[in-house]
Amino acid sequence: MQSTTMYDMVVIGGGSGGVASARRAASHGAKVALIESHQLGGTCVIRGCVPKKLMLYAAQFGQTLSGGMQPGWKVEQAQFSMADWQTAKTTEIQRLEGIYFNLLKNSGVELFRGQGTIVSPTQVNVDGQTLNTQRILIATGAAPNRKAFPGLDLAATSNELLDLTHLPKQVAVIGAGYIALEFACILKGLGSNVKVFYRDALPLRGFDASIRHKLVAALTLQGIELHPHSKFESLQQSGDGFALNTANGTHQFDFVLNATGRSPNTQGLGLENIGISLGAKGELVVNEYSQTTVPNVFAVGDVTDRMNLTPVAIAEGRALAENEFNGKDLKVNHQSVATATFTSPPIGSVGLTEEQAAARGPTRVYEAEFTPMKTAFSGGKQKTYMKILVDDASDRILGMHMLGEDSPEMIQLLGVLYTMGAKKSDLDKTIAVHPTAAEEWVLMSQPNRTVLNPA
Ligand code: NDP
Repeated sequence: MQSTTMYDMVVIGGGSGGVASARRAASHGAKVALIESHQLGGTCVIRGCVPKKLMLYAAQFGQTLSGGMQPGWKVEQAQFSMADWQTAKTTEIQRLEGIYFNLLKNSGVELFRGQGTIVSPTQVNVDGQTLNTQRILIATGAAPNRKAFPGLDLAATSNELLDLTHLPKQVAVIGAGYIALEFACILKGLGSNVKVFYRDALPLRGFDASIRHKLVAALTLQGIELHPHSKFESLQQSGDGFALNTANGTHQFDFVLNATGRSPNTQGLGLENIGISLGAKGELVVNEYSQTTVPNVFAVGDVTDRMNLTPVAIAEGRALAENEFNGKDLKVNHQSVATATFTSPPIGSVGLTEEQAAARGPTRVYEAEFTPMKTAFSGGKQKTYMKILVDDASDRILGMHMLGEDSPEMIQLLGVLYTMGAKKSDLDKTIAVHPTAAEEWVLMSQPNRTVLNPA
């Protein structure tokens, strides 16, 4: 069936990037249709950041009860029911999906439920209906990789983990990226025994080396067993559980989490009908305006594999709408994005790593490491670590990294400093807020060292 309507933009994908772009475009008077085959909200709301954070709250509560209690308190017979948590989580996600639905509806965007297939640069099929459009926006996200080694497709991904109704006892986590380590800490906090297998020497490839080393110590301190340099051979079903075969032997588990990365969702979109270019990882190649190699077809978010973070997808989607429907000339700056990793303790990072900073010129390195008051008072050993990297010539802050409680909250505001081009002298001029952990950011007076990597 051919619709007679001419849309200004048809968006394929109702996740963070697609919804943000559609709503912003509609706010400027554009006629917009959005196609989604599953729940509205995408990875972040339905099977990513949001339910992950809800599970993290449960884990943190468990960690407090099992070792973080403040003196004077005694709590007996505490129990965790994964089934009860699952019911509460499902209700909350349904509530959030309803909010997404209403936001779209109230903005005037037309929602089509089904699989969107591109027929031509100006036509998209959805459930037997053809939509005519001036522009197409592809915002279909990414999905877990399942084939890193034979049998790995037997393992759960973060999608299935978030739907668990019972807590597994013996858990293997494959990989040491964001998803692997966040869920390793969450499951450990809930009470599972967790072993993490990864192929590098350290977890979190690409992060500042000090943070990677400190994280190894923090994971080990909480009883997570790390298996670096793992050489994976296969995963097999074994009784009610799994046998993980590596070059170092066979390990038995009742639950295996495959967290070996994600790939852009480009299958089944009809991309072959418009001759669009894909990159080496199957991502849609776009320019700084999120325009693909087909002029009126755009893409934002994880499907472009630029910086796979929800707020980045939202920023890309909104910039696109502003440029196309409000006469703006916006580009998203991917260089100054602060990020948080919700391990226990969490990590906050913005800017360059020490290695990257040292490669561009002499860099002063300021470090602070301490046991937070709350941890020390409850008998805990986990330290907080902070690092500031400063360009020696200009005094400009090049990077800030932290492993410790509340680092995600701190790094959001440090990201503002960084984006404004703050100097170390700006931190020095700032009076501390006491007693806090954050005050250490303005109290590091002497550099620990100055580094320069010869080119
Ligand atoms: P990551 O790229 O962060 O990690 C993938 C992990 O899988 C790495 O440890 C990698 O090892 C390993 N791996 C990849 N291929 C293989 C293989 N063939 N054999 C063995 N190991 C392999 O991906 P994630 O899936 O964890 O996260 C996807 C994206 O989602 C991230 O890039 C991030 O942007 C985003 N995300 C952000 C979060 C946040 O902001 N808090 C939370 C969750 C996700 P190696 O290092 O050796 O390559």
